[in-house]
Amino acid sequence: MIHSAKRYGLYLFSILAVILIFAAAFQIRGAAGTNEKNIPILCYHRVIPNPTSSYDLTPEQLEAHFQYFQSNGYTPITASQFLEYRKKPALFPQKPIVLTFDDGSKSHYTQVLPLLKKYGFKATFYIFTNAMKGSKERWLTWDEVQEISQAGMDIGSHTVSHPYLTARDKMNDEQYQAWLEKELAQSKKILEEKLKISVNTLAYPFGLYDNEVEAAAIRAGYKGMLSINMGLNQPRENPFRLKRRLMVNSMGPKSLTNILAEKVLDLEILSPADTNIVRAKPVIRFRTNTPAVNAVRLEISKYQATLKPDSQGIYNYEIPGKLRAGFQTIIIRGSDADKNSRLNSWSFYYKPGETTE
Ligand SMILES: [Zn+2]
Repeated sequence: MIHSAKRYGLYLFSILAVILIFAAAFQIRGAAGTNEKNIPILCYHRVIPNPTSSYDLTPEQLEAHFQYFQSNGYTPITASQFLEYRKKPALFPQKPIVLTFDDGSKSHYTQVLPLLKKYGFKATFYIFTNAMKGSKERWLTWDEVQEISQAGMDIGSHTVSHPYLTARDKMNDEQYQAWLEKELAQSKKILEEKLKISVNTLAYPFGLYDNEVEAAAIRAGYKGMLSINMGLNQPRENPFRLKRRLMVNSMGPKSLTNILAEKVLDLEILSPADTNIVRAKPVIRFRTNTPAVNAVRLEISKYQATLKPDSQGIYNYEIPGKLRAGFQTIIIRGSDADKNSRLNSWSFYYKPGETTE
């Protein structure tokens, strides 16, 4: 009797397994058949009852965002999952979104983790390892980071000391490279050893990067890097140049609707190249391969312009006035044939007047 019950159980199990395999196969095929994904990566900071900066959200505001994601069918995935799924885009859920929390504020343990658990969401936390040497009232402790990690959250690096990575100051080449390596490789190593996890991604402090910083991050072993340049991410995106939307506390459901509805404006950047260190004020040149975009809105620093392409299909923009030295981001917006709002951006580092080595 017991024997036959067991066999019966095994029989039921096999049927169930077959059903599950079919269901999975159909789901994968269904997802692959849909349009290319435009995946938002959102960048949050502290979550505290009395905000002192526009980057602080109240717990109620964050929960309103979570409710919005839930009722609009978004599935939060981590930055590590984004990297994993991009190799096989059929693995992406129908409406993926990546939630990231920067800096290691205490509130990530007291407010954010409980909310993530309540909604069954995943997120990535970017930690700079010196934070855990600071005040326990203000910053996470190692035990709390451990608990966040063990709750299934993804931990990424935000360097050792949260510096301006592009600021070389008075360091010579050798000193600068050694310093970059310390900030990038050491933070990864400390997090991996303390938490017994693999740290796959880096969020640039203040969103600052250039080609030397990027090269150093790749050498340090990161599989993905995130800026705070505006735009969405398609699975085929360069994983070393992922874009994130900086979240501020004035963003209600209406701004969420707009942000999440945006799509990638397909750009072919001609000049200045993304990440480049530029010595003379550049002429901005690019093409777009997005169909039916025939005029775009460009924004750099305090300048804005509506541009039409020349006879070669190239958009040209000469910055009419002075450009501040430092990190500069070019944002391009346009509408496609279906009136979708499309967006992309890239950055360069402007160091005027210095001679090229
Ligand atoms: Zn930060």
